[in-house]
Amino acid sequence: MADLAVIGAGPAGLAAALAAAAQGVTVAVVDSATEAGGQFYRQPASGLRARRPQALHHQWRTWERLKDGLTGSGVRLLTDHHVWSVERDSDGFTVHALLGPEQREPVAVRADAVLLATGGYERVLPFPGWTLPGVVTAGGAQAMLKGGLVAPGRRAVVAGTGPLLLPVATGLAAAGVEIAALVEAAGPKDLVRHGRALAGKLPEGAGYAARLLRHRVRLLSRHTVVRAHGDERLTGVTVAALDTDGRVRPGTGRYLPCDTLAVGHGMLPHTDLAETLGCRLDGLTVAVDDEQRTDVPGVWAAGESTGIGGAALALAEGHIAGRSIAARLKGAEPDPTQWAPAAKSRTKLRKSAAALDAAYPPPAHWSDQVTDDTLVCRCEEVTAGAVREAVDELGAGDVRTVKLLTRAGMGWCQGRVCGPAVAGLAGCELTPSRPSFARPVPLGVLARQHGMATEKGTS
Ligand SMILES: Cc1cc2nc3c(=O)[nH]c(=O)nc-3n(C[C@H](O)[C@H](O)[C@H](O)COP(=O)(O)OP(=O)(O)OC[C@H]3O[C@@H](n4cnc5c(N)ncnc54)[C@H](O)[C@@H]3O)c2cc1C
Repeated sequence: MADLAVIGAGPAGLAAALAAAAQGVTVAVVDSATEAGGQFYRQPASGLRARRPQALHHQWRTWERLKDGLTGSGVRLLTDHHVWSVERDSDGFTVHALLGPEQREPVAVRADAVLLATGGYERVLPFPGWTLPGVVTAGGAQAMLKGGLVAPGRRAVVAGTGPLLLPVATGLAAAGVEIAALVEAAGPKDLVRHGRALAGKLPEGAGYAARLLRHRVRLLSRHTVVRAHGDERLTGVTVAALDTDGRVRPGTGRYLPCDTLAVGHGMLPHTDLAETLGCRLDGLTVAVDDEQRTDVPGVWAAGESTGIGGAALALAEGHIAGRSIAARLKGAEPDPTQWAPAAKSRTKLRKSAAALDAAYPPPAHWSDQVTDDTLVCRCEEVTAGAVREAVDELGAGDVRTVKLLTRAGMGWCQGRVCGPAVAGLAGCELTPSRPSFARPVPLGVLARQHGMATEKGTS
């Protein structure tokens, strides 16, 4: 039994765990990855014996501080634990996880308080050819590089929109991949419009610009990928210029040969566990107060589950949550002056995150490029044509009805991948999906659990 169970060993979860442990709290950190670090500090698998893992990372010293802090902290780190549900009862919380790569062996962690630090995931938007081998998400390419020490190919186009494309393009280039182009849907004017809020990001931006120049990466701003080509696998992409409304300019298409397309259109917060616990959401993010508390007593949230904002913001939020949890578990009123510097950075970083979000929206008319035969939901093999038919001919007016009529989002990933695409094609708002479980769970595990609960109830 721990005082605090932290779900997610990324910057937010680790900062919270260390802050709480420093105040004498017993902490268990649970993460599905094989190593702590989350997305930003993703570590190469230990079997790969990386000699210079820092070569692929930024802010390595911060990671070393977190790692060293963890070693002497008494925090219990449970990696390879895939959490599918968190249950609340009168005595506290039970975190239900499935162990190891097979995800069949159930494990339960009991705690008095829970911190959700589950990060975010990439927004995937379809286009003709996006399912070809060789097309990967931008974060996926980064994960292959940082976690597996492998490059996804020899010649890549990095495309989409958002700041994540910069570390991906520079990281791939540094690993020896030829970058045919960095294709960014936003234009310089979109950034200038938010210049004041983004002033603090200038040095980081300048650093990336210098690296792109050094690796001779061609930047095509206000451009988008309209099609990926190939039979068995990717052989190239067609990119085209966008007008100021986000529409493809006719006659501007050009073909870029490549064997890899790393594509991403921003990120969305992971909210499944918060939703199963009944936490209030603010749009698509977990709603929290100044202490990072959700509206469910005993549940805190920090990092990208409360809004996409990068590793530094995740660290600040995690630190505040850890301090608040430690005080509240002891029955004391927390003293915000103890986390004043973290609160100051949180305010500043949330502002620049909001500006980045506004400066890098997906192209407004991306769905115009999606042909009827393009697969949208890969799990259930639903095409864009089927989604359009559900709306135009069968009268679906929301994502739930589209799902019922087409089965889009009913497969293995439960709409985590296709959700934004289905909503965009249907012309509906993307709304939280309210899943029952955060990930698929074997029926045997549920049956065993039901048996245990029944036994407990009858004894
Ligand atoms: C694929 C990807 C690649 C990225 N690469 C970069 C990059 O190169 N540079 C950059 O600046 N930013 C990158 N980001 C953004 C990055 O996520 C944040 O800046 C930062 O890591 C957020 O910290 P966090 O602690 O909130 O979440 P994360 O670092 O995302 O940590 C969340 C942790 O929660 C765990 N988790 C989630 N759900 C469960 C569950 N159900 N059970 C158990 N564990 C769970 C995950 O395994 C993960 O370790 C990337 C994001 C993604 C999605």
